[in-house]
Amino acid sequence: MIIRKLRLLNFRNYAQLELSFSPAMNFFYGANAQGKSNLLEALHCLALTRSFRTAADQELLCFGAESGEVVGEYVDERGSEHVLTMLYRREQGKQISLDRKRLSSHAALVGKFPIVLFSPESHRITAGAPAERRRFIDVLLSQGSPIYLADLQEYNRILRQRNALLAEVHTAAPHHANRTLAAWDESLAVYGCKIIQARCQFVQNNAHLLQQAYAHIAASSHSLQLAYRSQFETLPLAAITPSCFQERLGEYRVREKQRGQTLVGPHRDDLELRINGVDLRRFGSRGEHKSAIMALKMMETEYLKLKLNTTPMILLDDLISELDESRARQCVQYFSGRGQLFISAVTKLTDSSWGEAVNFRIHEGIVKMVN
Ligand code: ATP
Ligand code: MG
Repeated sequence: MIIRKLRLLNFRNYAQLELSFSPAMNFFYGANAQGKSNLLEALHCLALTRSFRTAADQELLCFGAESGEVVGEYVDERGSEHVLTMLYRREQGKQISLDRKRLSSHAALVGKFPIVLFSPESHRITAGAPAERRRFIDVLLSQGSPIYLADLQEYNRILRQRNALLAEVHTAAPHHANRTLAAWDESLAVYGCKIIQARCQFVQNNAHLLQQAYAHIAASSHSLQLAYRSQFETLPLAAITPSCFQERLGEYRVREKQRGQTLVGPHRDDLELRINGVDLRRFGSRGEHKSAIMALKMMETEYLKLKLNTTPMILLDDLISELDESRARQCVQYFSGRGQLFISAVTKLTDSSWGEAVNFRIHEGIVKMVN
């Protein structure tokens, strides 16, 4: 999938913008606070219907504007053209249209325009709380499969309801609600198992891609291992069934009522990263974290390409301040040809060994092509 054109209206610090992109490498440079991340954010909003910096769509609107637009023109593998439009209105929320037809479900879009993002916030994937790694795998699997996204949304809906009930039980009526809880248990178990199974399967099938990527970057004998940690990890995949999940819920019943929240399920799981057997999150050096994040992004790119049979858009925000120059160079070399690249940095890359790029200079929300 290639994005040819982007149009912005009242998006962040862009009052109005129209750009045409290279199908290969696009390089944006400019001083701090000029609009580099805002531009990549607009591309991210198109692909995943939401920003990587905020969950509040109103924040995307230019200060004081009542409405705004992000429009992308794409060509797919078969050469067909698509127009994707996000219309933001401060009061009524956003409307998404694909090829001028309004989408009733935003989820339908996820995975159609696959994307991989590397940004200053990516360090949270390896260094942050388990929720950050769950988000990483959830976004990736959702892009790879609309079924996964639908199952995840359903699981989260059931979890919210069950947690609300448990909170009520916790504060008001500890001995009531067993029957109502049991009704939620069944569906929580069904969808919880689907999520755990899909994540475990992903790790089993793709851990070697991560190892390969890490070996490519670290160029040493060190290896990066990926494992899925859950309450069911001692069981073989086929034995993680809804009945076994429900059994576990039974064991946790008293504790769940005491705590007022659901204590069994994929919302408590984690992805574990180890370098030569040593836990990266706790013991990793800064360089090891950086290399691991890059390797994760490479795995993401390979997975999406294989799964969706199309190349993703690859956004590398603030590349050089995040990585040192040699890692940044490796990163660009690796991603070149694996997807349409969008790179931002504070200064222009003058050295042609980075590869052929179309260069854009960004100053106060105005973008000029400078090749
Ligand atoms: P850096 O190199 O520091 O990362 P950047 O070029 O990536 O800088 P952006 O994050 O794109 O900078 O932000 C550019 C400017 O946009 C900032 O000054 C910010 O205050 C401004 N801005 C953010 N949101 C809005 C908004 N909703 N309306 C208008 N301006 C905004
Ligand atoms: Mg930035």
